[in-house]
Amino acid sequence: MNIDIIPVTAFQQNCSLIWDENKNAAIIDPGGEADKLIKRIEALELNLQAILLTHGHLDHVGAAEKLKQHFNVPILGSNSKDDYWFKSLPQQSEKFGLLFDVAAFEPDRWLDQEGEVLTIGDFTFEVLHLPGHTPGHIGFIEHQKRIAFTGDVLFKSGIGRTDFPGGNYEDIITSIREKLYPLGDDMIIVAGHGPYTMIGEEKQTNPYVNMK
Ligand SMILES: [Zn+2]
Repeated sequence: MNIDIIPVTAFQQNCSLIWDENKNAAIIDPGGEADKLIKRIEALELNLQAILLTHGHLDHVGAAEKLKQHFNVPILGSNSKDDYWFKSLPQQSEKFGLLFDVAAFEPDRWLDQEGEVLTIGDFTFEVLHLPGHTPGHIGFIEHQKRIAFTGDVLFKSGIGRTDFPGGNYEDIITSIREKLYPLGDDMIIVAGHGPYTMIGEEKQTNPYVNMK
């Protein structure tokens, strides 16, 4: 598989562009800088098939509508429990002082079914509900390729914030312990911010999850 991690917005959110040998592609959490992302996709001559969203925060979804319109592909996810975040995108845009306006939108399809499998090119993603940072946060797990796109749940030596409306500390710890840690020590976690990590490494060193 091929992967290009493109940090976007002032929050340096990791937008992931992935594609297979036949150039079938998906983009995960296009948070902003739509023109840069479109140029990249076109320069690589990719056949973009879907836009996948982990949760409704502006820095993860800000360019989704523009990409959808440009490439005529569906927006899938997050879980519908994040609908209030999608509805409040204009306010988020104002509050965070990002220099672009984002209109409210809804994904073409909420991904509410735990364990649903999405097939895109030669990728198969299992959808896991990972509440805590937001109530409708999900992750996209590629078991065979041993890579997971899990947004703002687990970071290298850190966890996502739980102090936003709808956040819950116990829930995020449970999501990590019961859903992410069982994925296996060799599973790569592409986090929404900062460097990637691996489950085995976090089990050993993560100070938030391991503390009793
Ligand atoms: Zn977030």
